[in-house]
Amino acid sequence: MYPFIFTKVNDSAGAISAVGTNPHAKFISGGTNILDLMKMNIEKPELLIDINNLDFKKIDVQSNGNILIGALVRNSDLAYNATISKHYPLLSQALLAGASAQLRNMATTAGNLLQRTRCYYFYDTVMPCNKREPGTGCSALTGYNRMHAILGISDKCIATHPSDMCVALAALDTIIHVQNASGKRTIPFADFHLLPGDTPHIDNVLQPGDLITHVEIAALPFANNSTYVKVRDRASYEFALTSAAVALDVSGGTIKAARIALGGVGTKPWRATAAEQFVAGKPANEETYEAAAGLALKDAKGYQYNAFKIELAKRSIISALQNTGG
Ligand SMILES: Cc1cc2nc3c(=O)[nH]c(=O)nc-3n(C[C@H](O)[C@H](O)[C@H](O)COP(=O)(O)OP(=O)(O)OC[C@H]3O[C@@H](n4cnc5c(N)ncnc54)[C@H](O)[C@@H]3O)c2cc1C
Ligand code: SF4
Repeated sequence: MYPFIFTKVNDSAGAISAVGTNPHAKFISGGTNILDLMKMNIEKPELLIDINNLDFKKIDVQSNGNILIGALVRNSDLAYNATISKHYPLLSQALLAGASAQLRNMATTAGNLLQRTRCYYFYDTVMPCNKREPGTGCSALTGYNRMHAILGISDKCIATHPSDMCVALAALDTIIHVQNASGKRTIPFADFHLLPGDTPHIDNVLQPGDLITHVEIAALPFANNSTYVKVRDRASYEFALTSAAVALDVSGGTIKAARIALGGVGTKPWRATAAEQFVAGKPANEETYEAAAGLALKDAKGYQYNAFKIELAKRSIISALQNTGG
């Protein structure tokens, strides 16, 4: 490790004043990702600001039915919250499919949104990696790319976004609340994470000095009929090879509306909008599910070791649709 300044703040004003617009300052919440990255010399903040004393630890149902989740709500608390597990089971299931109980007890809502890729070359500092060191190349393109993305890729980076929670949030109408020295703003979830394009080192639209305060989920009555399916190499403590979050509004055997998002396959949490539009108005049956899965993966591109994900992702979607729609 290398020397850095550590400070602890007690409120959002203190956090914002401590961070200023310093590009070399970072917040730490659960610490389950940033500390690993620091120990491996991948991230080297000069100033680390502990925000665990901030008052963003509640889950509130708003008067309009939206759910406001504090940035510091732990993944376990969110997963087991009665409102979330009853009305948004896809989110609860996605959270509980992630990491391990100990990690979920530490990991926070904001930290989970901002966790970095698990591409092995990103963590191996002797290997070229455009995300870690822009302009050095991408070792995964011709290397061992079994865990890598098949959607949203570029010739600069094919790393997946690793979060399970974010797949469920992508399927819902989620808004990120951010505060900095200039004031407060909101960012729609779909615009928050960025595709790699030519700048894979930039994961999201946050600017230096931005503090995430809350995540807001819009009320979605049919989200109580939802499922998260995750396929991985072992049953726990493992990132997704593929995953699917599905919510369906089904009436009299017909799908009225759907939400479908994918994990383990996209360079960002992946909303399958074309598949959602396709199933609306169709019977809830195998034929519809298979066609929707095909549409969701229509633009997928497999590499030497990960082409199997195209079929696996389709099957994950079909399984989630079967579980939800019957
Ligand atoms: C062994 C292992 C297995 C795992 N398996 C899975 C898995 O299967 N599925 C999965 O989804 N995840 C998995 N994870 C990842 C885990 O979910 C993340 O490490 C965790 O969610 C990060 O949250 P945190 O609060 O610890 O973030 P931290 O490590 O504290 O921070 C992460 C980043 O967020 C920034 N940050 C934190 N809070 C704020 C804020 N309020 N405003 C602005 N910036 C902020 C930090 O500066 C840092 O850049 C695993 C992790 C490990 C170590
Ligand atoms: S896929 Fe992305 S993170 Fe992985 S080596 Fe290539 S540039 Fe780096």
